Amino acid sequence: MRIKGTPFTAIVLLLAAAGLAAIAGASFMAMWNDDLFVPAPGFEKKMLSDWFDGLSGSPADTPVYIQDGEAPGGTVLILGGTHPTEPASMVTATLFLERARVDRGRLIVIPQANLLGFTHNSPQEAHPQSISFATEDGGRRVFRYGSRLTNPIYEWPAPDIYIHPASGQQLPGKERGNINRCYPGIPDGSVTEQAAYAITELIKRERVDLSIDLHEASPEYPVVNAIVAHERSMELAAMTTMDLEMAGIPMRLEPSPKNLRGLTHREWGDYTDTMPVLMEAGNPVQGRLRGRTDERLALTGEDKAYVKAAALGRLYIPYDGDQRIEYRVGRHTASIMAFLENLELLFPDRGVRLEGIPTFDELQEKGVGAFLNPLKM
Ligand SMILES: [Zn+2]
Repeated sequence: MRIKGTPFTAIVLLLAAAGLAAIAGASFMAMWNDDLFVPAPGFEKKMLSDWFDGLSGSPADTPVYIQDGEAPGGTVLILGGTHPTEPASMVTATLFLERARVDRGRLIVIPQANLLGFTHNSPQEAHPQSISFATEDGGRRVFRYGSRLTNPIYEWPAPDIYIHPASGQQLPGKERGNINRCYPGIPDGSVTEQAAYAITELIKRERVDLSIDLHEASPEYPVVNAIVAHERSMELAAMTTMDLEMAGIPMRLEPSPKNLRGLTHREWGDYTDTMPVLMEAGNPVQGRLRGRTDERLALTGEDKAYVKAAALGRLYIPYDGDQRIEYRVGRHTASIMAFLENLELLFPDRGVRLEGIPTFDELQEKGVGAFLNPLKM
């Protein structure tokens, strides 16, 4: 039988296509809605453009939260959301933002460093659009799961080759949208290079003593469950690594390569006086061996292919079936607390002391949601 189209069937098909486009479009545009944070008392909200005018009015202008302790001390920066596909990064920064009570020194938290990375998903990866946590009041906290790169609408047209301005290093063109290849940044560059420039300016002007950039890496990548430290941070990072090992949190320590340019652990150290460190947790949702990629995988890290890969000795993390977000966030949280302790030990006048952060064990027991503040109605 041959089905023949009529003007009526054409209209029906057009309407159906328009309906699907409207649903998909609304879902796509929902990525532009800001995530909500409920800062702990004492935090003052600023914007990154306060350190670089050129960013004001730009969609890359991201919130910066600062809390001053009673006692004088040093300054520590916690940077989350460099790569929005690494949720333990943004979630750890959020825990510090929502829980920390600073007793000594100053804490600066940027939960979403590359804000424009949160406004879209990476094409062809089938990533979830969001992750969520149940809070103790029975509510839910939802956060976007974005892309590794800045939204291409704002990095268009990407060059064929990205030439890192400070070094001449050549990378694939799309890497200009990767804020962790753009440091120290330039004031008249692309929107991502400008955001990188503003963060470098913040570190300089606020005289940040210790700057921590949080990440996650796939389990088959060698730099995972690791701290990468600039020369200036190496002693501090070595002491912290030993403390973590003794606390049962195995950690690799890697020196920041001198010829790998544009990254926080290199450029923050070379262009400012801070001690930069970058930390990686292990995250199967980013790996190339993964199966179905949904919110469940992002939160639990349970994946059959990774069980096989672990049995074949192909992974750089211990993996017995999962890699839960409370474990990954717990590693980051415990590491930051160990860094703070050793900062005060090595540099008694530059210490930062804070309370209210859940321990590694508390996170394993109660989960992340128990430590996020409920959204006020
Ligand atoms: Zn990363």
